[in-house]
This record gives sequence, structure tokens and C-alpha cells, in this order.
Amino acid sequence: MEQVAPPGPAADPQPWKPKCPWGAPPSTVTPCSLSDVMSEELVKELQQQEENKAFPHLIGIDTTALVGEGTETSSDLLLAQMLQMEFDREYDAQLLREENKLNGDSKVSISFENFRMVHPFEDSDSSEDEVDWQDTRHDPYGPDKPSTNPKRGFVRKGKEITTKHDEVTCGRRNTARMENFVPEFQVGDGIGMDLKLSNRVFNELKQHSYSERRRSAKIHEKKEHSTSDQAVDSNTRLLLFKMVNAGILENINGCISTGKESVVFHANGGSMDDKIVPRECAIKVFKTTLNEFRNRDKYIKDDYRFKDRFSKLNPRRIIRMWAEKEMHNLARMQKVGILCPEVVVLKKHILVMSFIGQDQVPAPKLKDVKLSTEDMKQAYYQVLHMMQQLYNECQLVHADLSAYNLLWYMGKVWLIDVSQSVEPTHPHGLEFLFRDCRNVSQFFQKSGVADAMSERELFNAVSGLGITADNEVDFIAEIEALEKINEDHVQRRGKRVAIANDDEHPTDD
Ligand code: ADP
Ligand code: MN
Repeated sequence: MEQVAPPGPAADPQPWKPKCPWGAPPSTVTPCSLSDVMSEELVKELQQQEENKAFPHLIGIDTTALVGEGTETSSDLLLAQMLQMEFDREYDAQLLREENKLNGDSKVSISFENFRMVHPFEDSDSSEDEVDWQDTRHDPYGPDKPSTNPKRGFVRKGKEITTKHDEVTCGRRNTARMENFVPEFQVGDGIGMDLKLSNRVFNELKQHSYSERRRSAKIHEKKEHSTSDQAVDSNTRLLLFKMVNAGILENINGCISTGKESVVFHANGGSMDDKIVPRECAIKVFKTTLNEFRNRDKYIKDDYRFKDRFSKLNPRRIIRMWAEKEMHNLARMQKVGILCPEVVVLKKHILVMSFIGQDQVPAPKLKDVKLSTEDMKQAYYQVLHMMQQLYNECQLVHADLSAYNLLWYMGKVWLIDVSQSVEPTHPHGLEFLFRDCRNVSQFFQKSGVADAMSERELFNAVSGLGITADNEVDFIAEIEALEKINEDHVQRRGKRVAIANDDEHPTDD
């Protein structure tokens, strides 16, 4: 969005100051030169100063992730952008209605494609929507001559009887067909000119139009669908806006964390009909860039809860599934009383949950907090108990457990980040558990907790598997052997289930 140009200093003796969205700032005007007035940097700096004055608790919270780099960081702008997007979509819907009305049943249609505000790609949420246009089953120029074909292109003295091999007729027909294979493909007004296309040219043009279409979608996808390091994409902004609009959230304040796989925002809770929305919420936006997720495939692919669905899904759906998985796992944990965020709502790849922290200050990670010896010991026992509950009562292995995903809040340890958590029967579930145990054990031993068990002791204490190997290599070998036995068992069970045609499924919350 363009920033409104400041009025010239000659016309206005007062230097232009950006309007502060958080209320009127005290009017302390410092005189400055023309070049200063025109300096964008100064404007930004002044604005930042004003925002900080009016909204001191937001200092340090990075709002650029929400609205994008190089733009203003006020929530007014965000709102405006969201409104604009909503407007664009409405506009496009109207355009489509007009287009349909105009074209009616006509087989040659006029496209308003170029007037659309939102690229068609953006409206679809699956790449399955890409139809293969080469299908000629519904070729409108098949057996019958189209009634909408311009007459003079086809009527010629002494040439009334033609065959499909007639070069002229075929050429004209190709021209007419060309108009139809991709509506937004610009072909000029060839139809009025008795243009004849040879089959070779026709086929090449057709091919070109398909690749153009794909290219355009790809470029657009890169531009709009990559939740890059800083900004969330326009779809995400729209979804967030809808949540604010629906009153679920009162406002979205700023970014708490930008990780490789997610961006987390702070928000003030609003209300919902069937649920109490916490006063402070955390919004976890799963990144829609796919690269980082590739190496996480193993967590979800082999998770039987998602197995049937995985193979059929496109990458964007898979990312939604991460959010879905986190929601399910949090719900399981909540049920048995593990301290963790409470799920508020899930919308596509956006998970809203309760905020662990207070007054927009997130609870510190266990790795960052300085605890007394006694508190650290308490924290250790809490984590031990938590891991046991998670394994035995939730049937879950965290799979990314470390002092990074444990928060210290109100004198207790809270567990977060469970999108990758799996059931112990996952083909690598026990290996993941062992890795978790190693992280936890090393952290508390380094933190001086004398009671802290070794990783192997901890593994047995959590899983109850009683592995006796006295060195790591053998220990891991035994873990892998157990996983193998389990997998064979699952496979046999799967076969039995299939034979009995039993549609019993493992329960999922
Ligand atoms: P990632 O997969 O990016 O590590 P996390 O779920 O761990 O995602 O979230 C990243 C960071 O955001 C956390 O380390 C924590 O500081 C913060 N965070 C996430 N969820 C919450 C929450 N519910 N309350 C407070 N802070 C949170
Ligand atoms: Mn994390």
C-alpha cells in the first residue's frame, strides 16, 4: 500500500508526522530540515518512537512478520490489507457472474480473466484443481459446427462440401478452437480475419498456452504462497482477519517467534458461541513453504492415524495436517492434565491456542531461565512425570523434546510444540523417545540436578520396557529390534483386520 505523500514543507510549516494508530502522542515537534522531512528513514523512526510511547508493552514484539518487511507495522495497515483482499475476492466473484451472464450457453466465451484481482490459483487450495486441458472429450468443435462461429470464416463460394482433411476448413477450425483451449489465452482478433492455422502451429500454440498457464500459476504461488521468513502470505492474513472479524480474536498483536516451520503470534482473545476464548492467545501459523517440511515427512507418513490420508494429499494439505496433528496431540495431553496450551480453534494451517505467559510476555524456555537448584530439581521431576504420562496415558512420544519446547510458567513446566509427536507404535517411535530422553537427561545433568537419570535409565522409566543393555550401541539395537517386532505385529494385525473386513480403527480424538 502506498504511503500518503507528506505535504510540502513550504505549504506547511509543521513537518509532516505520521499518524499514530495507538492514540494521540504528546505534541513535541522537533524542527528539522527539508531533506529530513523527505527522509523515509526519519518518518519510520518517528513513527516507531510514537508507537513505543503509546504502546510500550509492544516494544520488542516484531510485527513485521504479520504485515511484511518494508511496510508500516500498524495493525491498521494489516486490517486495510485484509479488507482489500476481501474486497478483491468479492469483486472477482461479481466479475465471474458478469462473465457467465454474458457468455450464457455460448461455446465460445469471453474471458474477464485479465481483470481479476486475485489470481485463480490463489483461490484454489489444492493443486488437484489443475485440470488437464488436453482432454478432448468435450471438444466443442467435434462433430458439429459451432453456431457461434463467425459465418464468414466458414462460408465460401463453391466450397460447401468439405472433409476434415480440407486444409482451409481445418485451418479455420483450428483458429476457432484455439480461442477455446485456455480462456485467458490472448489470441487477438484472428477470428474476424479468416485466419487459418495449420495443425502443427495449432498444436504448438496449444502446448505453449498450457505451459504459460502453469508458469503463471507457479510464479504466483512463489509470490503469494511462500510464507517467507518474515511475512505470512495473503491467504493466511485473510484467515487471520476472518478470525478477528468473527470476534474469535480481538486483535493480533505481533510475532512471538519465527521458527523454521512456524510463526507464532500473540493475540487477544475474543469470544465464541460454544467456547471460552482465553484472554491471551498464541497463534501458530504453520509455514506453507515446503522445504523445511520435507525432512519431517517421516513423522507423519508412518503415523497410522494419518497413513491412509497421506498418500492422497498435496503438499499444502500435508501442512494443514501438521496443524491438525498438533491439535489432536494437545487435546490428548489436556485430557490427562499435562500442562500445555489449550486448543481454541484450528483453521487450515493456523492453530489458535491459549498463550503461556502473561501481558504479551511469553513464558521463557527452560533453556533460557535461571532457576534455583530446588526449582530445577522440581522441574526435572515434573518433566519425568510428564514424559510418563505422555507415553502411558496419551500414547504419545513427543519426538522433539528438549529445553526449547519446555516453558517455565507460574513455577511449573509447560509442554509445547507437539505437531511432530507420534504414538509409541510408530515405526521409529522408540528411537524418537530415546532421543528425547537423551536431550532431557543431558539438560538436567548439566543443570546440576544430582537426581537426574541417565538417558537409558530415563528411557526405561518412561517406557517400562526394561531394556538391559549396558552400552548405547546395544541399547539402540534392542530398541530397533522392538520396533521391528512391533511393525511385523501391526502388519499382521492389519492383514487380519482386512481379512475379517473389520472396520475397527484405532481411536483418534
Ligand atoms: P516451532 O516448531 O517453530 O519450534 P513452537 O510451537 O515451539 O514451534 O513455537 C515456537 C515458539 O513460540 C516457542 O518456543 C515459544 O517461545 C512460543 N510459543 C509457542 N506456543 C506458545 C504458547 N501457546 N504460548 C506462549 N508461547 C508460545
Ligand atoms: Mn519449538
